[in-house]
Formats: sequence, C-alpha cells, structure tokens
Amino acid sequence: MTLTVTILGATGSIGRSTTDLLAQHKERFRVGAVVGGRDAEALAKLARETGARFAALADEAAGPGLREALAGSGIACGAGEAAVLEAVGQEADIVVAAVSGAAGLKPTHAALRLGRTVALANKESLVCAGAAFMRDAARYNAKLLPVDSEHNALAQALGEGAVSDVAKMTITASGGPFRTWSTERIAAATPAEAAAHPTWSMGMKINIDSASLMNKGLELIEAHHLFAIEPDRLDVIVHPQSIVHGLVYWRDGAVTAGLAMPDMRVPIAHCLGLGERLTIERGRPLDLAAAGSLTFEAADEARFPCLRIARAALAQGGAAPTVMNAANEIAVAAFIRGEIPFYGISDLVERACTEFASRYARAPDDVEEALAIDAHVRAWSAEALPRMRA
Ligand code: NDP
Ligand code: MG
Repeated sequence: MTLTVTILGATGSIGRSTTDLLAQHKERFRVGAVVGGRDAEALAKLARETGARFAALADEAAGPGLREALAGSGIACGAGEAAVLEAVGQEADIVVAAVSGAAGLKPTHAALRLGRTVALANKESLVCAGAAFMRDAARYNAKLLPVDSEHNALAQALGEGAVSDVAKMTITASGGPFRTWSTERIAAATPAEAAAHPTWSMGMKINIDSASLMNKGLELIEAHHLFAIEPDRLDVIVHPQSIVHGLVYWRDGAVTAGLAMPDMRVPIAHCLGLGERLTIERGRPLDLAAAGSLTFEAADEARFPCLRIARAALAQGGAAPTVMNAANEIAVAAFIRGEIPFYGISDLVERACTEFASRYARAPDDVEEALAIDAHVRAWSAEALPRMRA
C-alpha cells in the first residue's frame, strides 16, 4: 500500500530531508500536498520534482508567482491561510509538520483535528500550546510522532516502557558554536558565527537557538508535553559529538540511550516507517571506533542564560513558555538582522517573561488563545527592541 505524505515547511531543512527520504522509497510513499512560506520558485520546483498534488504558500502575495511557476503542471495550488488549510485538508496518511516558528501552530493543529498521524518537527506547537495540542491529539485520535532528534531518541529508548518507571529523561546538546567561548567573546558574536553549527545542518532560526541553548530549553518544554513528564525529571547534558541524543534513566539504575549519526533523516525515517525500519541511502553509518570518544559536560547557564530562562518558564508553566517563545522569535530575527548583540536575545526574552508573568499565568486553552498571546508579546517585544540596542 502506498502512503500519502503531506509536508508543511516542505522547502526547509526538515522538509528537504523528508523529500530526500521519500524519493528513496517511491514504492512506499507518494507526496500529497506541499506547503511553504513565501518562496514560490522553490515550492513550485519541489512540487514538480516530488509529483505533489497540491502546493500552497502562506504568503498570499506570492500566489501569482506560484501559479505561474506551476502552469501546465497539473498541480493545484493556492496562497494564503485558507490555501494552507486546504493543503492540510488533502487526503494524507502522514503529515510532516516542519514549518518553523509559531507560524506552524495553525496548520499543525489542523492536521491533528483531522486525526492525521503527525510527524512533528515544529516544536513551537508544543512550546506555545502544549497542553491544548496533547489534549486534542487524544481527542481527535491523532498520533504525534516526534521528529526532533532528542525526542525521537527518547521515544525509541522508552519503547513500551512506562514513564512512571522513569527516574529521569536527559536530552543532549551539542553545545553549539560557542561551547568553549568566553562570555566576552559570545557577547561580540556575529550572526554568521552563531549560525555555524558544529554538528547539524539546519534552518537559520534553529541554528541561532542552538547557539544560545534556547533550543534545548524549547526541547525540555517539548519533552514535558510529549512524554507527560514533570520538569524536575528532565535534564540537559552537553555532548559535543551529537551521537547520543537522548537517555532514559530507569528507576532501577539502568539507562537506555538513543544513538545515531547527527542526520535528521534518521528520526524522520523512524516516524515515516510507522513501526517498520526504512533504509537510508547515502546515510553514514555510526562508526563508534572512528568517533573514538564520546564526551559529556554540564551545561553552563551563566554563559547561556536562555537555558536558565527556559527552565524557569517550564517550571512556571501556564503561558510562560508561550510568552518566552514569542519574545525569542522577535529577538532572534533582530539578532540575525544585526540589530541587537547576542546577549540582547536573552535580555529581551527575560524582560518579556517578567513583564507578562502575571498577565498570562494560565496555559492557553487553544491555538487561537496561544496565537493571541504570541501576537501581543511580539508587538511588545518589537517595541522594546530599540532599548536593547543600547
Ligand atoms: P527552515 O527555516 O529550514 O524551513 C522552514 C520551512 O517553513 C520553509 O519551507 C518555509 O518556507 C516554511 N514556512 C515559513 N513560514 C511559513 C508559514 N507561515 N506557513 C507555512 N510555511 C512556512 O526550518 P527547519 O527545517 O530548520 O525547521 C523547521 C521546524 O523543525 C522548526 O520548528 C525547528 O525547530 C524544527 N526542527 C528542525 C531541525 C533541523 O534539523 N532543521 C531539528 C529539529 C527540529 P519559505 O522558505 O518559503 O519561507
Ligand atoms: Mg533537537
């Protein structure tokens, strides 16, 4: 039986790893709909290459360009929010949710509501509205499969085990490009330096989050919701080789770890396989003798305050992670544009968390509420930005 796969964020880093895998297993999969943000040229090319049936862009203004680029292809297309939701509504067995940022909430949630099996890369869905997403996944009988490498490793390590038997779950961090840098050097880091990830090849936003360790903070929140595990049983350890991705510490002292080469096609293949294992062509097998040594060190929250801020947001619960994520998206975009220094990111995020702590105490009940908080905090953050430059 051929499975139909729809890809949200198809032209991005995760999207491309997904289409690479699908092309290697043509007998098993066909592409349903592909969704992108605003790059009509790239989406049209991808839609033609993959034989997609429907292509949609979030940016309405890019619609004419998409229609022109797909003329004569027989591929239906559209642009704007309604078109994205129409793409999600196309028949599919698996939806890969790989839009970056809070923009991924609506289409990902729409897939859940249709009871689809969702391979979830968009961690922001769980960070911004985790309780609502988990509730609705259960309500609409939709499976959520973790694409994020650490969570995928944890899911594999946990297997059929019960979370009540788990003493602790640990996710690893590569430490990013600034792992060994002094505070002074990090303070003066450029966007290009922050984007130079040592082990993974990823989109720009997540690269910056990896440099600040905010990505690990987001992932702790993601793990809390995915595995229904309390914050005090979740942990981060720095592991520069990015070979061990997640560890389950059982209460009897045994530890089960998930290992793989740092290649996102590995966790994506695990999700797409739906219980069966898919071969990855041109994948580099893990060679532990060649790796030589696997090293581990504690994460330094003094040099990487975003991790401390995210832990606090996780402990506080409610809408604190929603607030934190919105401020972080604005701050990271400003850092990429060269408008604020690297530590301007953690400064802005911390200020936003303090500003909104009591106002948004309760967890958003649905995606609309999460997006309303997101919009409010973004507007506040954009206004606060000029003060961060000083
Ligand atoms: P990229 O920036 O590489 O790709 C983002 C994709 O989303 C692009 O196709 C982009 O299209 C599209 N997009 C942007 N805005 C919208 C929108 N409003 N509506 C629909 N589509 C949109 O990101 P990544 O692939 O790196 O990351 C995607 C998600 O996966 C993130 O949540 C990230 O945290 C997560 N993730 C990524 C990992 C990685 O290795 N890259 C690892 C683990 C998780 P366009 O270019 O046209 O704007
Ligand atoms: Mg990850």
